[in-house]
Amino acid sequence: MLGLVKKIFGDANEREVKRLTRTVEEVNGLESRISGLSDEALRNKTEEFKARLEKGDTLEQIMPEAFAVVREASKRTLGMRHFDVQLMGGMVLHEGKIAEMRTGEGKTLVATLPVYLNALLGKGVHVITVNDYLASRDSQIMGQLYNFLGLTVGCNMHGLSHEEKQEAYACDITYGTNNEFGFDYLRDNMVLYKEQMVQRPLYFAIIDEVDSILVDEARTPLIISGQAAKSTEMYFAADRFITRLKAEEDFTIDVKLRTVMLTESGVEKAEKAFHIENLFDHANVLLNHHIQQALKAHVIMKRDVDYVVQEEEVVIVDEFTGRLMSGRRYSDGLHQAIEAKEQLKVQNESMTLATITFQNYFRMYRKLAGMTGTAKTEEEEFKRIYGLDVIQVPTNRSMIRTDLADVVYKNELGKFKAVVEEIVERHSKNQPVLVGTISIENSEKLAEMLKRRGVGHKVLNAKFHAEEAEIISRAGQAGAVTIATNMAGRGTDILLGDGVADLGGLHIIGTERHESRRIDNQLRGRAGRQGDPGSSQFYLSLEDELMRRFGSENIMGMMERLGLEDDQPIESRMISRAVESAQKRVEGNNFDTRKVVLQYDDVMNQQREVIYKQRRDVMSSENIRQAVLDMITPVIDRIVDAHTSEDIPEEWDLQAIVDYVHATLLPDDSLTRDDLWGKEKEEINELIYNKVIAYYDQREEELGEETMREFEKVVVLRAVDSKWMDHIDAMDQLRQGIHLRAYGGTDPLREYQFEGFEMFKEMIEHIQEEVAKYIMKARVESNLERQEVAQGQTSTNSPGESQEKRPVKRNDRVGRNDPCPCGSGKKYKQCHGVEK
Ligand code: ADP
Repeated sequence: MLGLVKKIFGDANEREVKRLTRTVEEVNGLESRISGLSDEALRNKTEEFKARLEKGDTLEQIMPEAFAVVREASKRTLGMRHFDVQLMGGMVLHEGKIAEMRTGEGKTLVATLPVYLNALLGKGVHVITVNDYLASRDSQIMGQLYNFLGLTVGCNMHGLSHEEKQEAYACDITYGTNNEFGFDYLRDNMVLYKEQMVQRPLYFAIIDEVDSILVDEARTPLIISGQAAKSTEMYFAADRFITRLKAEEDFTIDVKLRTVMLTESGVEKAEKAFHIENLFDHANVLLNHHIQQALKAHVIMKRDVDYVVQEEEVVIVDEFTGRLMSGRRYSDGLHQAIEAKEQLKVQNESMTLATITFQNYFRMYRKLAGMTGTAKTEEEEFKRIYGLDVIQVPTNRSMIRTDLADVVYKNELGKFKAVVEEIVERHSKNQPVLVGTISIENSEKLAEMLKRRGVGHKVLNAKFHAEEAEIISRAGQAGAVTIATNMAGRGTDILLGDGVADLGGLHIIGTERHESRRIDNQLRGRAGRQGDPGSSQFYLSLEDELMRRFGSENIMGMMERLGLEDDQPIESRMISRAVESAQKRVEGNNFDTRKVVLQYDDVMNQQREVIYKQRRDVMSSENIRQAVLDMITPVIDRIVDAHTSEDIPEEWDLQAIVDYVHATLLPDDSLTRDDLWGKEKEEINELIYNKVIAYYDQREEELGEETMREFEKVVVLRAVDSKWMDHIDAMDQLRQGIHLRAYGGTDPLREYQFEGFEMFKEMIEHIQEEVAKYIMKARVESNLERQEVAQGQTSTNSPGESQEKRPVKRNDRVGRNDPCPCGSGKKYKQCHGVEK
């Protein structure tokens, strides 16, 4: 039936290929003219194209000629002429789609076409690879071609200094890994001066091995975690201190707003107790905050009303329903303050400072494209999540690899014995064999068995990219036996040695089916490149993970009934089908997991965009005075609203307003109850606002305009950063705990969205209050320096790859030429000591 439908309507992929063929012919038609150009004339084409774009030509209009130019330049610099199918792949990428091209079809070279074309716009093209080794290799080799045509190429390696990164990003073309680009984005949104940012706006990215990056790695978000620049000890110190204070005398309570404020006398006691001159000095921001929260924890928050203590943890009680809000933490350090009050462990060791999923990082590019040997199985996901179509590009020469049917053994031992026999057999004829395993453990097991049989071999575990690439490139030589995990030596070409084609080419043995068919296809794809002969076969056992988890009972039963011995294989269509349906089921599950990760990150994503945009605005504006006043206004509104809600003005709590204003906005004695008496709500608002403006002007006069402008930025950035980091950490906790809320059919995602939004609103209010308080109250003589609120370290959450790096404080006493304490091996001045 499906075949008939195809015949009537034609295959969509075929139609695409046909369409692209027309442009290929156009490029071919230009070849003789272009190849007649001198090197210089060829190079001048770049300027000519740029001028045409400037005049309004589109990239599509210049594409045929530009491709012809790249092909010619490639012939001259690399000695390779793009095949017609490679031109086709280049067009697919230019159109912002995924080009599925078999292994060995030369995707690295394919990328040069759209990279060159799009780089002409001068907005930067990023080429994303799976590891640093490939980024550096490809940027160097392909760099010859780009440089020849007058474009600049950079490589964004892990551990580059700040200046080096800026340089790499300023190039027309930048190679690097997905992790590095993603972390740079997060770090760029934590800097304090816009000159410290390294990325330009994200324009076009071409992702090599796009399935690995957008599918396999998409379950683990990028995370910068670290120690916030506050110690847990401070919570206890603040906690001890406030128990000495007296209500009314040292602090006042605003029952309605549920806040506590220190009075003059309270402030004096704090200054004495902590040996500081001024609690409102910018340097004492944290201490001040801790004291506030400790007070709140003691005076306002009631155990078994607002929260309960359960298994050494503080669990919030929902004020309306009385439900336990497992996993949720009070933000803004209040949770920690309560932990200190209850003498529990203060949970503040490491917090998430910034995080993003690859999905959301890559969706920020104006245009996205990808290439891989295996995308069709995940077509739906690419389409739904990234809006990327998958086009299968035909191979240059037809593929002649033989994929043999699976063989299945009863147990693992039987399977491995058979694999070894197979290797020994083929090895005796000198045919090269590449064995793929799922785990390092299995690689080693097999290696041990081969050693006992006296078969020389190499083992690769994806630990040392450069060396492994070297080894795997020789896997096609006569007599080679190579054992590799999936990740090892990716992206490396395997050429056949002399005479190997006559032996049947490279033989691939898979020792287990992967959860995803795509990964199995990747392994097979290592043989039979560019029309080479080759073969592949998978060996399975009923004890394999996949079979145990998803294999059907039937198979087991059948094996039993047949009474098979351990070393007797069975080849059966039924089993192959069962394996495939198990894989499809797992693929479906994994897709669902990734969708969930994304749905949760989407909530954060909107918030992240808001905050990051504001930060950038603050850093790039000359003058944010008005923005600061706009943040103070709602603070005044809220306090006035809270105490003027009764219908009868006589019942308004004007004293509370006066107290708050004195504690937060104006010097003492600026305002009395009588000033507010008999006024409308709006009049009160206006009165306070005008006094705030007047005092603001006075402060600006005293400090000088320049200092005031910088001071505003210092205060806003600091408030945004510290509250935002608390917030994402709280969101993180919320996310982890939300599934514990097992009550009547609530949808955890909706709960998360709802609460996440509430928390975000709260955070904005906290930012406004903090800005108001410090702009109006802080002393500015010292410490007028933008400060990082925390130092982070990066991780992707995957145990194997996280770099063990210690967070580094910028003001530690480290000499500029000393090794950086983060352990990068670079000089401090080139690493964490980068000048601001
Ligand atoms: P893929 O990433 O698609 O598996 P590679 O980019 O590693 O393939 O390229 C495979 C091999 O083919 C490399 O050795 C490359 O130099 C070679 N190659 C690619 N395109 C051409 C071409 N047009 N002419 C000659 N050799 C090519």
